[in-house]
Amino acid sequence: MLIQANIATPSTVLDFPTRDRFVRELQSRHYSIVGISGIVMNLGKVREMCRLVREHSPRSTIVVGGHVAALPGIEREIDADHIVTGEGVRWMREFLGEAADTPIEHPLIRSSFGFRLMGLKAPSGGGDPAATIIPSVGCPMGCNFCATSAFFGGKGRFINFFETGEELFRVMCDAERRLRVQTFFVMDENFLLYKKRALELLALMQQHNKSWSMFVFSSANALRKYTTRQLVELGVSWVWMGLESKQATYMKLRNSDTQALTRELQSHGIHVQGSTIIGLEHHTPDNLESEIEHAVAHDADCHQFMLYTPVPGTPLYAEALSAGLLRNDVDIADIHGQDKFNFHHPHISQDASNTWLERAFARDYAVNGPSLYRIMRTTFAGWKRYGEDADARVRARFARDAAKFRGGYGAALWAMERYLTDSQPEVAARMRDLRRAIEREFAGLTPLIDGAAGRVLLYAARREAAKYPAGRRLEPATFVDHRGLFPRRPGPFGPGVIGR
Ligand code: SF4
Repeated sequence: MLIQANIATPSTVLDFPTRDRFVRELQSRHYSIVGISGIVMNLGKVREMCRLVREHSPRSTIVVGGHVAALPGIEREIDADHIVTGEGVRWMREFLGEAADTPIEHPLIRSSFGFRLMGLKAPSGGGDPAATIIPSVGCPMGCNFCATSAFFGGKGRFINFFETGEELFRVMCDAERRLRVQTFFVMDENFLLYKKRALELLALMQQHNKSWSMFVFSSANALRKYTTRQLVELGVSWVWMGLESKQATYMKLRNSDTQALTRELQSHGIHVQGSTIIGLEHHTPDNLESEIEHAVAHDADCHQFMLYTPVPGTPLYAEALSAGLLRNDVDIADIHGQDKFNFHHPHISQDASNTWLERAFARDYAVNGPSLYRIMRTTFAGWKRYGEDADARVRARFARDAAKFRGGYGAALWAMERYLTDSQPEVAARMRDLRRAIEREFAGLTPLIDGAAGRVLLYAARREAAKYPAGRRLEPATFVDHRGLFPRRPGPFGPGVIGR
């Protein structure tokens, strides 16, 4: 999308196509260039797509980009004409002979679709639709395992699409108006690290009375550059933070007490998505239990556990390769950190890696309960603290969040409480306490209403669990966007780029 919005050449974005849809697109128009982007584990799909292009559109030039391009030796694995690593807008502009240095146009991107809640379809974004904004790519912290940092230059490097807070503000105003949103999913590896831009944005939000919410990725050291008040006024309502491990030596975690930081953020209504690594070099069967307990004690709103994974292109991959530690029995499609190790760990076997990973998720759920409950708890804490704040922008944002308690949160709590009464009575009791506190807080919200709507949700959740015991398989919908005029087949061979 970003490339399409920044080239004058007519083009099509075809996102998440099925095989048939991709072939149909190739057969329907003359494409001089077919660009395919993918992540590393999608190598097989990219290979097949290249083959399909050669078969159905043999005069097209094939350009492959995205993280898959970082695979060593990929040029021998797929039949492409150009393989592009790093930022793609500039590359494509230059390739097409267009001006490479013109300012970046930000496309309108909705951040989610197909939202479901406890087995039922829910309104977009759970009633809080968001726009995706991409201020920068890459991250200068350069953690050894980080594929996105490595892909855009590694340690000390990143690429800003929007240098100033004012540029970003204009992009956000445009998305607010055209997509009718007040919430932004800021897709930037470490948005808060660039403090000057963030504070410029805050000043403009204050000046123009914008009561926006932001979901951001941020390292602990970046968060600590701000006062909590600044984060609240900036509208930061979700933070994805790498917790990694209590013994981790990453610079971003130096002198950080991530448990205290998580509690502090949550008490101000800022939701925390924690991310913990299983299988770091120092992990052994003797210390992993306590590492998991440390992670679980954060009681983050959501918690991701990921296997330590040498992903091609990262410093960790280079180290593992030179030390002869990479396994050659792992399918590339399984190198995503949610299955088993793709390297020889000094203390943990490959099979045990999966057992530890699943144990971490299960332990977090057993102790802390469903994320939906934790999210509500933080939302309620934010409302209690800022519902009557002196700043009208802040008040409005927390009032918007609190409105969800009238729009289904209470019923969801009622249903979760019943769902877990037998299996997790302690967690169910905490939910009951929260539900009752919410019902006391919001006049007109009665246990009767929660119970009535809650019964529907409880039935839907049980039906979903019975029907899909291993979880429902979710596939993103195909997205297509044709821009500019270019000839349909049959006709003269003309310009045109097809993406994804
Ligand atoms: S701080 Fe996060 S985004 Fe930055 S390099 Fe480390 S893992 Fe990657």
